[in-house]
Amino acid sequence: LTERLQNAISKLRRKGKVSEADVKEVMREIRLALLEADVNFKVVKDFVKTVRTRAVGAEVLESLTPAQQIVKIVNEELVKVMGQEASPLNKSPKIPTIIMMVGLQGAGKTTTAGKLALKLKEEQHARPLLIAADVYRPAAVDQLKILGQNIDVPVFEMGTDVNPVEIVRQGLALGKEKKNDYIIIDTAGRLQIDERLMNELAQIKELSQPNEILLTVDAMTGQNAVEVADGFNSQLDVTGVVLTKLDGDTRGGAALSIRAVTGKPIKFIGQGEKMTDLDVFYPDRMASRILGMGDMLTLIEKAQKDFDEKKAAEMAAKMRENSFDFNDFLDQMEQVQNMGPLEDIIKMIPGMANNPALKNMNVDPKDIERTKAIVYSMTPAERENPDLLNPSRRRRIAAGCGRPIQEVNRMIKQFKQMREMMKKMSNGNFAGMEGLLGN
Ligand code: GDP
Ligand code: MG
Repeated sequence: LTERLQNAISKLRRKGKVSEADVKEVMREIRLALLEADVNFKVVKDFVKTVRTRAVGAEVLESLTPAQQIVKIVNEELVKVMGQEASPLNKSPKIPTIIMMVGLQGAGKTTTAGKLALKLKEEQHARPLLIAADVYRPAAVDQLKILGQNIDVPVFEMGTDVNPVEIVRQGLALGKEKKNDYIIIDTAGRLQIDERLMNELAQIKELSQPNEILLTVDAMTGQNAVEVADGFNSQLDVTGVVLTKLDGDTRGGAALSIRAVTGKPIKFIGQGEKMTDLDVFYPDRMASRILGMGDMLTLIEKAQKDFDEKKAAEMAAKMRENSFDFNDFLDQMEQVQNMGPLEDIIKMIPGMANNPALKNMNVDPKDIERTKAIVYSMTPAERENPDLLNPSRRRRIAAGCGRPIQEVNRMIKQFKQMREMMKKMSNGNFAGMEGLLGN
């Protein structure tokens, strides 16, 4: 997903301004990237439509950093599709809170039941009880028993010869008697959804009235995960989803689809086989993961840097021509404040990188604010032509920005010195600039 998206965006990045056609192209790439990541096609369609609508809006086309803006929109929309915020476990107002695990065979129900019990125990000092209601696989009961021993949580079981509904009935009775605050029911799965299983699960649901029906889905099953989730949800009306096996290479495409298709929140993610490998699901973190945000951040930084370089080049040309005016100056001030040190921008100017005067250059943000205030009080004509600034204009400016006239004079003087020096900058020294900004 990442690579494809990155290519598309870096292409965009090379353009200063983007057109609607450019946006269309990058959207095509995003669409393919999502489909490759096994996101459901309908989800992809809706997603791309939303992003495109926002991206062709003025906010991107007019932006000086369109690539960055698009990444931002994609990220925001991903977060939105996945539910915006973490969704906590439902809790019963009085004990016990009953949690029923459902899902296909091998999805990770039993493992997750154990992980969840441990999490509740550690984070809430809860006293959970596990119920072994999968009687179809001989090893299933033993698996849960062993897990229970490892994490020191009691497991209620009646072997494999009893009707699961009956096991749940007795397990609930025991949990209530022992005042367990959580009861987690591990149920059977099948390789595919079938009616017998669904009937059994519906009966267990009816009997136990769970506060939470957690659908456990294997994230590695991609497209199939969506159908499964849809199937379980339509028959059992689940309350939340656990996405397992998100360790490994899985990019998390299933997280997008499942939430969008079922409308049910993903509550936890399994990221390994160990009992401690269960985490709360955070949509923003998953979005970063889908985007490969580590790399994406680098990309944004690069986009930013390109912008700086482009600006710096323009600036350098103006300096050479001695047409650098207060508007450019203001631009620079803004750059300094928005995106980083003026020192760095200056260093991009040919010949300036190794200038010793830059070593001690220090810019105080407050000085920049004051300097900006002075420039803001100038008329457009004054900004374009600093030579207009006679004493009466200076007095007006000083009054306008509330700074002493001496400060205005000093600033203008330093600006002129700076401009002079900029002209000779390839062999120049930058003392004037330092004085102007850092005093
Ligand atoms: P169930 O049939 O739904 O109860 O599935 P199990 O809990 O028995 O899990 C099936 C397999 O998946 C087991 O080998 C688990 O160790 C493994 N498993 C479950 N969750 C995860 C996970 O989050 N990451 C990894 N790597 N393996 C998992
Ligand atoms: Mg199991």
